Amino acid sequence: MGEARFIDLRSDTVTRPSAGMRAAMAAAEVGDDVYGEDPTVNELELRTAALLGHEAGLFCPTGSMANLLGVWSLVPRGAEVLCDQQAHIARAEMGAHASLHGITMRTWESSSGVSGVARVTDVTSMMSVGTGPFLVETAAVAIENTHNFGGGTIHPIEVLRELRAACQQVGVAMHLDGARLWNAHVATGVDLADYGRLFDTVSVCFSKGMGAPVGSVLVASQERIAAARVQRKRLGGGMRQAGVLAAAALFALDHHIGRLADDHANARSFAEAITEAAPGAVDPESVATNIVVLDVGERAASEVVGAARQQGVGLSAVGTHLVRAVTHLDADAAACRQAGRLAGELLAR
Ligand SMILES: *Cc1c(COP(=O)(O)O)cnc(C)c1O
Repeated sequence: MGEARFIDLRSDTVTRPSAGMRAAMAAAEVGDDVYGEDPTVNELELRTAALLGHEAGLFCPTGSMANLLGVWSLVPRGAEVLCDQQAHIARAEMGAHASLHGITMRTWESSSGVSGVARVTDVTSMMSVGTGPFLVETAAVAIENTHNFGGGTIHPIEVLRELRAACQQVGVAMHLDGARLWNAHVATGVDLADYGRLFDTVSVCFSKGMGAPVGSVLVASQERIAAARVQRKRLGGGMRQAGVLAAAALFALDHHIGRLADDHANARSFAEAITEAAPGAVDPESVATNIVVLDVGERAASEVVGAARQQGVGLSAVGTHLVRAVTHLDADAAACRQAGRLAGELLAR
């Protein structure tokens, strides 16, 4: 199987910078960002903050670091953050919040009927505030939008508004893991700032569907970002002429937001092709953005992933019997359809 024929839908992180993006990177004006002197990084931080309705931004090497700093800024050592049981911060950040910052987590099981999407009561029923020396203090709630392991699902803005009001009432802060907030924005038409303003801290990724090689931004108030800048350096995340990377993210802001709609259409058509061959693995109507989670029934997810790889399709295992496909700008409509046909035949066997 030649590399050229491999349709890689393991993740939207596998994209390679386009010629235009590379040209923007090569042309970037740079300086030492630890001195605050990289104009391209400064521009990216300000522009991202403005887009999300916040005062300031902080360029981070990864989404994990942006989440780590966002949650750190809201939750003191020994207190807790609440999140969905499938949240990236709980499952995929190597226990960083606990091992580096002394933060505990409790997780809720989202009961809205849409995978990974919470009802307000799922969250509020878990809060413990002001109980003194009896229960761990809930300092923050973290929401993931879109929800990765949930299958690219979207939290409705009305639910987020209601949750914000409930949290404010008891003084609990809110963090948004917005690695793919861009996808939620494009799918719903809700303004990025309308989402952003409901949270105290927001992280967004440029290395996913936005197609940049590296980079995330945390946005918050000026005060929080100033503190997070110090903690980023403490974690080894102070970068120097990082403008070459920030330029890729700026290019993505200019060119890659609207086109996410193509990824969403391709994910839907991937799911439809699966359904034609193997009904029941996924409901194409449930595909909200660029992620498709397939229920592979009795078979082991790892076995299905291995068999798909033999057919030239890259998928990933996200549960014992759950397999994920993610569409992105390096897989066009024909490739996604073809991948759906091949994976569907495999599931039908
Ligand atoms: C990818 C991702 C992140 C950040 O991952 P990094 O690999 O550390 O950049 C955070 N949250 C979600 C939901 C993600 O999908």
